[in-house]
Amino acid sequence: MAENKNPLADPKNQRAATKMVHGGTVRSQHGETSESLYLNSGFIYDSSDAAEARFMGDDDGHIYSRFSNPSYDMFQDRMCLIEGAEAARATATGMAAVTTAVMSQVRAGDHVVASRALFGGCRFVVEDYLPRWGVESSIVDGRDPQNFANAMRPNTKAIFIETPSNPTLELVDIEAVAKIAHANGAVLIVDNVFATPMFQKPLELGADLVTYSATKHIDGQGRCMGGIILGSKELIEADIHTIIRQTGPTISPFNAWVMLKGLETLALRVERMSQSAAKLASFLADHPKVDKVFYPHHPSHPQYELGKRQMSSGSTMLAFEVGGASGTSEGSNQEAAFKLADALSVVKISNNLGDAKSIITHPATTTHQRFSEEERLEAGITRKLLRLSVGLEDGDDLLDDFAFALDQI
Ligand SMILES: *Cc1c(COP(=O)(O)O)cnc(C)c1O
Repeated sequence: MAENKNPLADPKNQRAATKMVHGGTVRSQHGETSESLYLNSGFIYDSSDAAEARFMGDDDGHIYSRFSNPSYDMFQDRMCLIEGAEAARATATGMAAVTTAVMSQVRAGDHVVASRALFGGCRFVVEDYLPRWGVESSIVDGRDPQNFANAMRPNTKAIFIETPSNPTLELVDIEAVAKIAHANGAVLIVDNVFATPMFQKPLELGADLVTYSATKHIDGQGRCMGGIILGSKELIEADIHTIIRQTGPTISPFNAWVMLKGLETLALRVERMSQSAAKLASFLADHPKVDKVFYPHHPSHPQYELGKRQMSSGSTMLAFEVGGASGTSEGSNQEAAFKLADALSVVKISNNLGDAKSIITHPATTTHQRFSEEERLEAGITRKLLRLSVGLEDGDDLLDDFAFALDQI
């Protein structure tokens, strides 16, 4: 076949939605339309010489699915195209991605700085696990970049942030914090779950490693656990690949294949979900029984300007507080929040997010139950706070569901 001169033959010249349908695809000799699932743990060599060469790294074929497999490659390569990353490695869960990314950059005697508003598991890794291995950590209020600068020490090797944060959608200025990290010779790791690969590009803003829980929007249909770490060839192929190869927090071929197929519809899904989220944020903000709404592209968000600057959409997630007028004690506020969640019908009570199905969560009594009262309130997680992951249902049904439920409290 003659060489194709069409510029679109190079996936880098394709627009995002096209990359997500075709990126990374490698077809077998059968020319299958949909990507094959390589559900195998090992690989066969033509000869002992070939096996030796493979282990020597003289050819880049696969060895063992603890660290590489064609189904992982396709998922990783498609994600690299979307993220603008040189390399990536998929992991079993989002927590495996975060833990591997952070652990790959530190050893005993080092120091890590992290923003305060973190997903429960991430905060546990930074605050509880790192010190067990002799790595000190500082937790700072991420809303002001100066707090990171003040916390830096000569032995600080990494800054870890999540923006928007779970569950209060606080923002961290990625570009400003990247400059602080680099001035101190540290790497910046960004957990980009809430923004999705569509709405925020941490690598373009200066981050060194980006992590996702692929369990969330990338699968997006509540089926599989997964995660991924993206960054430069240097960081991924040396640090990240080695730790994954030797410790095994790997994704499974089946889950990598589901994630790969999930990416084909990611752009459509998160665009629709964020449109509904923006409408719901406005509706809730104007409702007399709602005290406060947290949505990065709603003008009431205290970091609205930053949200507009570093995110191309307000995201598919929002949070809000109810029941302020009906009582001031923490207990009565929880009552209103529970009553509201229980009165919803289309929106389900669960703790996942990024799903096709809309999900409401009461963080104080579920995802953040382990926090002390003081830690919880410091993170802005009152008992009247509800977190909403907006799904793919008809946006008007979601509005009607909330209108009905708010009438009940
Ligand atoms: C869910 C989540 C994680 C952890 O991902 P799992 O796939 O559940 O392990 C990490 N960070 C954020 C922001 C998340 O929402």
